[in-house]
Amino acid sequence: MSFYDRPQYAVKKRVLVTGGAGFIGSHLCARLLEQGHQVLCVDNFFTGTRTNIAPLLGHPEFEVLRHDVTFPLFVEVDEIYNLACPASPVHYQFDPVQTTKTSVVGAINMLGLAKRLRIPILQASTSEVYGDPTVHPQVESYWGNVNPIGPRSCYDEGKRCAETLFFDYHRQHNLAIKVIRIFNTYGPHMHPHDGRVVSNFIVQALRGQDITIYGDGQQTRSFCYVDDLVRGMMAMMASPADFVGPVNLGNPGEFTMLELAQQVIELTGSSSKLVYRPLPQDDPRQRKPDITLAKSALDWDVSVQLRQGLSSTIDYFRTVVAEIDARSEASL
Ligand code: NAD
Ligand code: UDP
Repeated sequence: MSFYDRPQYAVKKRVLVTGGAGFIGSHLCARLLEQGHQVLCVDNFFTGTRTNIAPLLGHPEFEVLRHDVTFPLFVEVDEIYNLACPASPVHYQFDPVQTTKTSVVGAINMLGLAKRLRIPILQASTSEVYGDPTVHPQVESYWGNVNPIGPRSCYDEGKRCAETLFFDYHRQHNLAIKVIRIFNTYGPHMHPHDGRVVSNFIVQALRGQDITIYGDGQQTRSFCYVDDLVRGMMAMMASPADFVGPVNLGNPGEFTMLELAQQVIELTGSSSKLVYRPLPQDDPRQRKPDITLAKSALDWDVSVQLRQGLSSTIDYFRTVVAEIDARSEASL
């Protein structure tokens, strides 16, 4: 069956994915192509890589544009997923002014594009809008507990302002918006050096290095496997126009960082030891999504539990770490 004979061709869309070369964006681009859509991946390659999208480069319906979303973009598409923004604390704190610009000016530019074309636009917002939450688990109606002037604020407040812009474009210009709040997501294509806890622990365990626990390791996070998240993002885009969110997307399974380290050690068979490092400022003490709304409005739920998702992620990192180590040995 040729590509154009597929049943999906009837509903083929031109989809813009900003941040499409990043961890989540590259999975989303792949799923959209699988469903028969045309994909325009826009990325400035700050944290994304060509390796993440390498398998897609030869696809006839895939196009890549190196572009920074803080500058206006004029293209013709049918819907937009706005993911452009560094997501790991190490990356977003590297150039905090650019992080705020990416979230805020990037949102204005993408909303302007959506307004000109009168098309739906989905914003990848974050559980960070809840800050260090005093309501647990976090429900969408909770307004959050965010430090406006701390080291995480460039990201947290940038994303909060982007949500404000999305809702104002909706109210003021009747724009079709979709806002999702993503909770800690992990899986293949995470950058091995991005400093996030899942990639850090796995890479450290695979190399037999000490596993760095920040603080006492009792802080909690809820980890969502990337395939579940991408399914939720696409369900949100496909939902009725009057459902705009915000909606939490995440896995409600809650783990301390010590429990995560234990699982990684067990699954890798590593002999790594735990070492304790200072807790970064404003590090949230607990995080767990209430996904009642996503379940009822999107008929979405998670299907991959932590152990299973970690195993696939560990398989991915085994190859990545072996490649990096082989390259560095060859250059000696
Ligand atoms: P990532 O860093 O892997 O991907 C972000 C992508 O955006 C990268 O490809 C990067 O090069 C690109 N980018 C950054 N600034 C840009 C700019 N100015 N112009 C164009 N491209 C730019 O991170 P990710 O984990 O894939 O996150 C994707 C989105 O999901 C982000 O918006 C993030 O805030 C959101 N999110 C992710 C998580 C998570 O746990 N991974 C949680 C909450 C929210
Ligand atoms: N963390 C840790 N060791 C690491 C990296 C992170 O203990 O090597 C902790 C971090 O302090 C935080 C949690 O893991 O409490 C999640 O951190 P991550 O950077 O992955 O995401 P975020 O804090 O944005 O949820």
